[in-house]
Amino acid sequence: QAKSEGYNQARAFDEELGEIIFEKNRIEIMLKKVICEEEFFLCYQPQVLAVDGSLIGFEALIRWKTKGGEWISPGQFIPIAEETGFIKPIGGWVMQKAIQQIAVWQKKSFYKLRMAINVSVKQLNEKKFILDLKDTLKKYDVAPESIEIEITESIELEENKEIIVALKKIRDMGISIAIDDFGTGYSSLYYLKNLPVNRIKIAKPLVDHIAQDSYDYAIVQTAVRVAKVKGIHVIAEGVETKEQWECLKTLECDEIQGYYFARPMLPEQAYEQWIKSAK
Ligand code: C2E
Ligand code: MG
Ligand code: MG
Ligand code: MG
Repeated sequence: QAKSEGYNQARAFDEELGEIIFEKNRIEIMLKKVICEEEFFLCYQPQVLAVDGSLIGFEALIRWKTKGGEWISPGQFIPIAEETGFIKPIGGWVMQKAIQQIAVWQKKSFYKLRMAINVSVKQLNEKKFILDLKDTLKKYDVAPESIEIEITESIELEENKEIIVALKKIRDMGISIAIDDFGTGYSSLYYLKNLPVNRIKIAKPLVDHIAQDSYDYAIVQTAVRVAKVKGIHVIAEGVETKEQWECLKTLECDEIQGYYFARPMLPEQAYEQWIKSAK
């Protein structure tokens, strides 16, 4: 009995693993053939001031609808793109698109509007990245101060000296740097000390139970306090309720992003619902 149970479990595991590998290959093959302009587009999610919910800027989030009409989430394909190197052309396309968009909005509305762009550490490995960034800002006449780059914390961020050098160069250009998904995974409060960082983004799992769980509340409280010592700003992501917002305000978190305020949306909607009425 026990033996066959173990056997069945092993078989189920093999099958599951097989499916994962199959799915990965399938996405990789589609990525190889993708034409960015035809299948990708960007959605924009508002980032607001914690005290009054007023608009500060947007985070650009990629969306993929394949030629066959299938939606593949960034959570599925970005890790595969990072592993296979496709992140470089994709990231380049995102950069171009997001900067072009902020240029349009700033001219139509106000110049202080900010654009946060997700960048993979794999992109930072390339010298070309900084050159492209400079060229794109110049091309669309966008001030580096209105761009923020979001880097997800990773072991590489802590250990790879070249990445730190690249981040310093980017920051010296006037672009701000945010550490995404802060407080889960690899980040420790100590390593913030030596990173060229302007902002931390408190990860959603820490925000989820902040209003009920005193442990999570204390973690966020500590992160905010430590960040402030170094003049690092704090934004919380994944804010879905008024109670979470209230807690974060009490903790003097500077900015908020989440479904409670707005979902990621198309540029037209972002303009109509947010930018038009903002100052
Ligand atoms: P992220 O950068 O941490 O982005 C936040 C994710 O949380 C987004 O998922 C966003 O839609 C979602 N979100 C925002 N507010 C809420 C909320 O209140 N509740 C819930 N449940 N979710 C919320 P999305 O768009 O699926 O992106 C997932 C991840 O994929 C991103 O996490 C980021 O790491 C990556 N990604 C997205 N676009 C790009 C891109 O252009 N380049 C790179 N390199 N990575 C990207
Ligand atoms: Mg992000
Ligand atoms: Mg992330
Ligand atoms: Mg995040």
